[in-house]
Amino acid sequence: MDLIDLHTHTTASDGSFSPGRVVELALAAGLKAVGVTDHDSTDGLDEALAKGRDIGLEVVPGVEISAEFQSGTMHVLGYYMDYREPEFKNRLTALQDGRRNRNPNIVCKLNGLGLELTMDEVRAESGGGQVGRPHFARVLIRKGYVATTEEAFDLYLGKGRPAYVDKFRFFPREAVQMILQAGGLPVLAHPSTLKLSREGLEALVAELKAAGLVGLEAYYSTHSPEMIEDYLALCGRFDLVPTGGSDFHGESKKDISLGTGRGDLAVPLDILQRLKNRSVAKHE
Ligand code: AMP
Ligand code: ZN
Ligand code: FE
Ligand code: FE
Repeated sequence: MDLIDLHTHTTASDGSFSPGRVVELALAAGLKAVGVTDHDSTDGLDEALAKGRDIGLEVVPGVEISAEFQSGTMHVLGYYMDYREPEFKNRLTALQDGRRNRNPNIVCKLNGLGLELTMDEVRAESGGGQVGRPHFARVLIRKGYVATTEEAFDLYLGKGRPAYVDKFRFFPREAVQMILQAGGLPVLAHPSTLKLSREGLEALVAELKAAGLVGLEAYYSTHSPEMIEDYLALCGRFDLVPTGGSDFHGESKKDISLGTGRGDLAVPLDILQRLKNRSVAKHE
């Protein structure tokens, strides 16, 4: 079966490989297409698309937008948007400013807890792209304060932990709309991380579908076969395209491999055509 991966991170956000390298790794892994979806940034897309043309691999331009949600993490993926569109860029800038304002406060909180680190050290870890919490985790690991990224989140960086600092986000509807407005296809990422009941998820999906959602990430590294079946059924009920990807971050998340996730992920190529059909339909 021909396989793809529509959810990956690069050094433009908190992945450890450059956009070009992620595309090379996707080809080496035998994938037929790779989507690049950095957090609140499209800075890696030009490089990824150019590399795809060079080596003959289909690259799907994407983004992963952070949205406001109480019960867990909400991320809205966007595909095929015109990422040079001015209003879209303005909104990304607002999200990036939110991160830049937050990050020094995380340093303060960690320092207050007796952990020595500076914003410069965290920035150096990011390699010049967007700074995210996994970069803080890497510095904490390097300095011996924690053993793993998980431990860094559990002890300090995760929501509700002592060095957690909130950042500016759009509401889910606004995240969907900013992607639509730039001609892109909004997809609800990893629905499992919302920690909703079945009824809660259905209500949310109905609301986002009304706002223009076109897909739901049914295939994901941490989704069991039963969960995937459930999400595929939900897609059927709401006329959404089931999408999928590993959420590959390279060395920042060592247990997740490109394409295969934790070993058993398999995202079929045909979903990409179904996604593209929505794009065509929108313009008819
Ligand atoms: P940020 O964009 O700075 O809010 O950080 C989000 C990133 O942190 C995402 O890549 C998540 O995958 C990662 N992350 C969130 N929670 C955890 C956790 N408990 N363990 C490891 N990584 C996490
Ligand atoms: Zn990430
Ligand atoms: Fe995500
Ligand atoms: Fe992601």
